[in-house]
Amino acid sequence: MNIAPQADATSQPFWDAVRAGQFALQHCAACAQAIHPPGLRCPACRSAELAWRPVETGATVYACTVVRHAALDAVKSALPYAIVLVTLDAGPRMVLNVIDRAPDDVRVGDRGQVVIHRNAHGIVLPQFQIQDPPPRSPST
Ligand SMILES: [Zn+2]
Repeated sequence: MNIAPQADATSQPFWDAVRAGQFALQHCAACAQAIHPPGLRCPACRSAELAWRPVETGATVYACTVVRHAALDAVKSALPYAIVLVTLDAGPRMVLNVIDRAPDDVRVGDRGQVVIHRNAHGIVLPQFQIQDPPPRSPST
């Protein structure tokens, strides 16, 4: 079973950028808003003048959940895994899988960045890597 995301005409530039190792979002030429998911018009001002450009990868966890039951056999070996809804520094929110972090150690408010990562199935996806928290200052 193919579990790779299926691009359509609107989202194809997003996936082309990901395959090239870049993180790019649609932007509105009229009001400069970054847009995700991709669309035909700006959700803020309804302009159809949209263009793609790379964005900063920083983001903050807005919500998180841990997947413990596989809806598809293809992801059973990855259980459990964390999924987050992040607020990108560029503005929009995006759902991403978390890498390099125990799923139960993901918290709302965690900072991190979107990374372009090849998963265990060989699929190149944007995923979320949480920054280590700053070291605590010694108590006095
Ligand atoms: Zn706009």
